[in-house]
Amino acid sequence: VFKNVVRAPDIPVYAVMVAYREDSSPVKLNLGMGVYRTEEGKPLLLDVVRQAEKLLVNDLSANKEYLPITGMPEFNKLSAKLVFGDDSPAIKENRVITVQCLSGSGSLRIGAEFLAKHYHQRIVYLSQPTYGNHPNLLAAAGLSLKTYRYYDPLTHGLDFQGMLEDLAGASSGAIVLLQVSGHNPTGVDPTLEQWEQIRQLMRLKGLLPYFDCAYQGFVSASLDADAQSVRMFVADGGECLVAQSYSKNMGLYGERVGALSIVCKTANVASLVESQLKLVIRSMYSNPPIHGASIVTAILKDRDMQSQWTNELKLMTDRISNMRRQLYNALRDKDQLAMDVVCLAGTPGDWSHIMRQVGMYSLTGLNPEQVAFMTREYHIYMSSDGRINMAGLSSKGVSHLVDAIHAAVTL
Ligand code: PLP
Repeated sequence: VFKNVVRAPDIPVYAVMVAYREDSSPVKLNLGMGVYRTEEGKPLLLDVVRQAEKLLVNDLSANKEYLPITGMPEFNKLSAKLVFGDDSPAIKENRVITVQCLSGSGSLRIGAEFLAKHYHQRIVYLSQPTYGNHPNLLAAAGLSLKTYRYYDPLTHGLDFQGMLEDLAGASSGAIVLLQVSGHNPTGVDPTLEQWEQIRQLMRLKGLLPYFDCAYQGFVSASLDADAQSVRMFVADGGECLVAQSYSKNMGLYGERVGALSIVCKTANVASLVESQLKLVIRSMYSNPPIHGASIVTAILKDRDMQSQWTNELKLMTDRISNMRRQLYNALRDKDQLAMDVVCLAGTPGDWSHIMRQVGMYSLTGLNPEQVAFMTREYHIYMSSDGRINMAGLSSKGVSHLVDAIHAAVTL
């Protein structure tokens, strides 16, 4: 009965991972999938997570019964505080409803399903470019996708005017997906002044902000500083949605732990929204898993463990900054040796955007042909849009990467 099923295209980021695994070259580099690697190129299990797991194993009162549909209440409370701040008036006024979901992706999908059923506008605007799974997660819920300008390939920075123009021209009441910090794939975030202008414009036009918070703490190592954008929107008393992920900042990728918060105008509306979120979740997976949320809760509720977490976050962000510096220096020095070579890339002599971009990624400006060349000739695996996962690079891979980039742009 399934013989007419048509083969689906490969999912690019997984195809890159498979190709990397199958490559036997000793110099191969995986800069594709967005996961953190140590200087030795290994996955990192945070010490604080290990410690939390030990506590959980020894907790004799623990059980494996079903969680409520909306997840673990303490986890939800702590997650809301993490993103909105300890003193958030919206939390104190009970205007925020938070539900535990299956990581950032699951949170985004639950929020999209809720909006498709209960919000009057189906159009959602996505940054151009955006995280590859955003269109799938939102369209699958029945939302219609449009884009707003975001990245300027000439400056490798924000196309702020383009963004404002597109938001100003957006259909009234449209949903706008915004990334809280550490924008994937560009590594480009608005400044706080720019966020303020975005906020004013969106509120003026009645656009609904839907925040994706997948990298809190990965830009500045300050959890508070990295959440400023969303807090500005909450401070004005208006509505917004926030999908949170603990994949990157706690290294809990495979535990699938995250949360969706919906900030409402009143506590009464928040309770109505919660009742409908329960129906959405019930029909999709009934209730979320225990383990990851227990780890997060153990860490967030304990002052010492929380500070140990932020220390470990800082080690990760420092290592990423160090990689940016090393890559930039090596490219700059290599360029000086080859000043008179005609280069083909957009900005072959200026790689300073690698230093300016923030978070886990750098959108290098390398084009798909150059990336394909680097994979073929240098065994370097990355997404075809030229995005490098800076957290996948280590000191010993820098010179090989620079050789490959240099060869690619001087072809
Ligand atoms: N949002 C963004 C911007 C991401 O980059 C990712 C993962 O890379 C996600 C959401 C989803 O991640 P997860 O489902 O693991 O939380």
